[in-house]
Amino acid sequence: MTFRYRCSECGLEYEILPGRLRCDRCAALQQPDRPLRGILEVVLEGGTLPTKAWHTLDLLPVERRWFPAIPVGETPLWRPERLCDELGSPGLVLKDDGLNPTGSLKDRASYLVAAFARRHGIRRIVVASTGNAGSSMAGIGAAAGLEVRLYLPASAPRGKLVQSLQYGADLQKIDGSYDRASAACRAFLSEHGGLSRNTGENPLTIEGKKTVSLEIFRQLGDRTPDYVFVSTGDGVIAAGVYKGFEDLVALGLADRVPQIVCVQAEGSSAIARALEHGEFTDPVAADTVADSISVEVPAAGYFTLARLQRHRGRCVVVSDREIQAAQRRLASAAGCFVEPAAAAAFAGYLTSRAAIDPAARVVVLLTGTGLKDIDGALRSLDEGSTAKSP
Ligand SMILES: *Cc1c(COP(=O)(O)O)cnc(C)c1O
Repeated sequence: MTFRYRCSECGLEYEILPGRLRCDRCAALQQPDRPLRGILEVVLEGGTLPTKAWHTLDLLPVERRWFPAIPVGETPLWRPERLCDELGSPGLVLKDDGLNPTGSLKDRASYLVAAFARRHGIRRIVVASTGNAGSSMAGIGAAAGLEVRLYLPASAPRGKLVQSLQYGADLQKIDGSYDRASAACRAFLSEHGGLSRNTGENPLTIEGKKTVSLEIFRQLGDRTPDYVFVSTGDGVIAAGVYKGFEDLVALGLADRVPQIVCVQAEGSSAIARALEHGEFTDPVAADTVADSISVEVPAAGYFTLARLQRHRGRCVVVSDREIQAAQRRLASAAGCFVEPAAAAAFAGYLTSRAAIDPAARVVVLLTGTGLKDIDGALRSLDEGSTAKSP
């Protein structure tokens, strides 16, 4: 199997080489305050798999031997029996990606980016993030022996800042939002160079995240689920989830792409608004307890919007209260303690399930562990006790 980049907008193809991030032609059309233009996707050529016992790494554009020795992925997919009974939803399963080495799904992207850097002898990786992409790159980079420079908002949950420092990253705390941190990161990259792991901008971040879909498919016994609920900020996880199922269809392993439901916070819902109105408008200041999906201009906005339109996906918007209630319910009824951004996916399921056949195979993708943000979890408990009192 061989791999190439193809522009998700104009179809122009490029070799997968360091320095190649976006399509020259479409990136030139970039407007300020809008999602990234010219995002590249990886196309698999020469399409059949060698054996039935394929490994998810066989479907990635870097040879296996370059991946660092750290156990990313192969996270459990399981049925929360008590919760299923309580809800009367026998077909509900959880994919717990908080059990990745650094506690979030972001490890899937960092893993591929680290392998790519080693393959090409690149020493330094630079990334801006709300917290998880940065702490993930720091941890996976530590396993790979790479130098990692991070731009994080100073307001990021302390757990994410502390873990980044433990992993030995060069941490730049930025006063202001994630969008400010991104600007500082871009300035550094253009002056000093290094490999960008910025989500959406580096196409390998989308490609790396697709492995979650490949695993879901296999864990369901080589079957496509009916629905996948995905918490969405920049839209890169949703893009990766789509890409994984599209690859399975292209390889003749699956016959369809599931219904993907992107769940956004009320205070950060650019993609949901764009799906409704057909276009992205001026950014609105982001405000939500779910820090990992708090985004003003979603990096993969155009990419994910096009996927949602092509596959008739949906968006659901949930309030902070619904997110916090979903966090407590998952923890107390399933024993699964996740961060607010991850709980958003479950909140989205709770608000949508009246319209879903109870027997449908529904995957709620849980993207990060609750231990990353203890202060947020405490606030959620306070919110719960106020909600209960008259
Ligand atoms: C990054 C992240 C998301 C959202 O992913 P996007 O690619 O920004 O849409 C959701 N949950 C958690 C825990 C994350 O870290």
